[in-house]
Amino acid sequence: MNLPKIILKPGKEQSIKRYHPWIFSGAIQTMNKGINEGELVTITDSKGEFLAIGHYQIGSIAVRIISFTNTEIDQQFWNTKIKKAYELRKMLGLAENKNNNVYRLIHGEGDGLPGLIIDFYNGTAVTQMHSIGMYLCMNQITEALKNIYGNKLTAIYDKSESTIPFKSDIYPKNGYLYGSLSEDIVLEYGNKFKISWEDGQKTGFFIDQRENRKLLSEYAEGRAVLNVFSYTGGFSVYALNGKAKFVHSVDSSQKAIDLTNENVAMNLPGTSNHEAFAVDAFEFMNTIDNKYDLIILDPPAFAKHNNALKNALQAYKRINAKAIEKIKPGGILFTFSCSQVVSKEEFRKSVFAAAANTGRNVRILHQLTQPGDHPVNIYHPEGEYLKGLVIYVE
Ligand code: SAH
Repeated sequence: MNLPKIILKPGKEQSIKRYHPWIFSGAIQTMNKGINEGELVTITDSKGEFLAIGHYQIGSIAVRIISFTNTEIDQQFWNTKIKKAYELRKMLGLAENKNNNVYRLIHGEGDGLPGLIIDFYNGTAVTQMHSIGMYLCMNQITEALKNIYGNKLTAIYDKSESTIPFKSDIYPKNGYLYGSLSEDIVLEYGNKFKISWEDGQKTGFFIDQRENRKLLSEYAEGRAVLNVFSYTGGFSVYALNGKAKFVHSVDSSQKAIDLTNENVAMNLPGTSNHEAFAVDAFEFMNTIDNKYDLIILDPPAFAKHNNALKNALQAYKRINAKAIEKIKPGGILFTFSCSQVVSKEEFRKSVFAAAANTGRNVRILHQLTQPGDHPVNIYHPEGEYLKGLVIYVE
């Protein structure tokens, strides 16, 4: 392809030869004049040998690679890439399954498409672009989705308004690229959820907790459950469907609590086993006494950047200490961190410190992570962000 060129400094091709999908600005020797943000570029080593094709962007990550072969980036390219991602979800039993019609179709680097997220909600594809280059490919991505899904696709909603870098010169507005608001009830392992992609957080639902919610439902029977940071009530619905004695849901957002109540009512009409509280989690945890024997802590990313790491680790320690201290003997705690900058080891250390403070006997039963429709590209370990521990407190 005849694209503008970026030439790397000697030695800087090494990470690209190991298929890392980013090029940092410091690795660049020279580049053609007048390359626009978002433009496709060819990357070569210092001797002019082809390395990759990617999207150029001003910033510390200067190029996000979408192809390691010298190929035409045309409609066929997009059709093939997205079809491959679809086939993987089908193999995982997530697509074309009558009990499940919600899954992540494209997970950025994990699907070889840095900057692109697509979640599929029972006929509606919700796109979220994190790079300008991806945003500019919107039409081809839309065509590819129509081509792959045919009449199974009812709408495409783009939600890139808050994810496109604000310094760029494009000002995306959230809206439908195809179709309009239609079916917004989805099925996840047979559990029903109403999804609000227009108003909800992220693309509307935390699909990444699917397998962990399923595991929780296997522990729920007969237990008194507390679901902290409940958002749409995912864990609450699974616990109730798993025959929990009762479930309490906590979220500081009234909107989230309304959604939780709505989802519980849809799955278990008229149940009296659920109560939801719109309060601060840290305050609520001070009041729980010995009421619960199954607690879920799934907070938002406490640290979005490295400089917030120390405070985040303290917050994980504080909230876990409360849960471990107050849970009934024989209790089970599902505890998570979705902060990418917090490593698995650091998270485990904060739970360790929390446990040590209480002096209780604590054992790890399961170590959890993100599911297969949020794949981690082995050449991009930064893509592993969700960490969870299931611990047993004697
Ligand atoms: N467990 C959820 C996802 C949680 S997202 C699921 O499976 O879908 C994190 C949630 O934490 C958000 O809904 C947000 O409103 C809530 N939240 C953030 N800070 C909070 C706080 N201090 N107290 C209670 N809830 C909080």
